[in-house]
Amino acid sequence: MSTNLINGKAIAEQIHAETIAAIVRLKAERNITPGLAVVLVGDNPASRAYVSSKDKMCARLGMHSVRLILPGLTTEAQLLSIISDLNFDRTIHGILVQAPLPAQISEEVIFAAIDPAKDVDGFHPLNVGKLALGDETGFVPCTPAGVHQLLIRSKVKVEGAHVVVLGRSRIVGRPVSLILSHKTPNANATVTVAHSRSRDLADICRSADILVAAIGVPQFVKAEMVRDGAVVIDVGINRVEDKTTEKGYRLTGDVDFAPVSQKASLITPVPGGVGPMTIAMLMHNTLRAATAATQR
Ligand code: NAP
Repeated sequence: MSTNLINGKAIAEQIHAETIAAIVRLKAERNITPGLAVVLVGDNPASRAYVSSKDKMCARLGMHSVRLILPGLTTEAQLLSIISDLNFDRTIHGILVQAPLPAQISEEVIFAAIDPAKDVDGFHPLNVGKLALGDETGFVPCTPAGVHQLLIRSKVKVEGAHVVVLGRSRIVGRPVSLILSHKTPNANATVTVAHSRSRDLADICRSADILVAAIGVPQFVKAEMVRDGAVVIDVGINRVEDKTTEKGYRLTGDVDFAPVSQKASLITPVPGGVGPMTIAMLMHNTLRAATAATQR
C-alpha cells in the first residue's frame, strides 16, 4: 500500500471496535441493545445492497436491526404511518430511510417525519439547523462525519487550512463545509464551497490545502488542479462501464487517482476510502441515539 494512502477501511475498523466496546457496556450497565430500522421503498439493486450491508453490520456489532422492504408503489401516507410506528418503537433508536425514494414520495416530508432523536442520517431539519449552528447535540450526516473522522484520525491539520469542497449537496458537500468551518477543535478551517456554477474551478482547487471532491463526476479532479502536497479526500462513488470485470462495471471516484496521488501528501482511494466510513458513522450515530434514549 502506498505510504500517502488514507486507509478508510482500517480507520472504519477502529471506529467499529470502539462502537462494539460501547455496545457491550450499554448492554451490561443498562440492558439496552441499540436498534436500527432501515426502510427501503422499491427494488433498486444498489439500494438493496446498501440496506443488506447495514443489516449485516448491525449483526456484527451486536445491534438489533429491522429491515423493511416496501413495494415501489407505496404511498407517502403509508410510509408516514410506518415512520410513526418506528418513532414509537422503544426497541428502535435509529431510523434510516434509504434514498432515493420513488417520485410519489417527498424526501423532505419523510425526513421531517422521523423523530429527530432517531434521525441517525442527520437529514431532519432540526438536525440540519443544529449542524448549521454548531450545536453538537444533533446528528451529523454519516458521510460528512466520516470525512471529518478520516482527517482527524489521519492527523491532518484542519485548523487554519484552506479547504475547498467541490459540491454543495445536502448529503455531502454542504455539511462537510459546515463541519470544517466551525469554531471548534479539529475544524476552524477557511472553507470554499465550489459547484457547477463556480468560475475558475481549477484555480480554486489549486488553492486548496485540503480538497474534498463530492460531485459525482468520474475522475473530474486532474493532477493540474491539485497543489503539491495537498490532502485529497475523494467522496465520489461512480460506476463506470468496464467489460473486463465480472459485473461489467467498476467503481471510480471523482479524482483521477493515479496522477493526483503523485502530487498529494495524503489521498483516499475509491473504494476503501470514504465509503467504509459512512457505515461506521451510521453505527456510531445509532449507538449515540440509544445511549441518549436511556437518559431521557
Ligand atoms: P449530488 O447531490 O448530485 O451533488 C453534486 C454536487 O456537485 C452539486 O452541488 C453540483 O453542483 C456539483 N457538481 C456537479 N457537477 C459539477 C461540475 N462539473 N463542476 C462543479 N461542480 C459540480 O451528489 P452527492 O449526493 O453529493 O454525491 C456526490 C458523490 O459522492 C457521488 O459520486 C456519490 O455517489 C458520492 N457519495 C458517496 C458516499 C459515500 O459513502 N462515500 C455517500 C454519498 C455520496 P450544483 O449544486 O450546482 O448542481
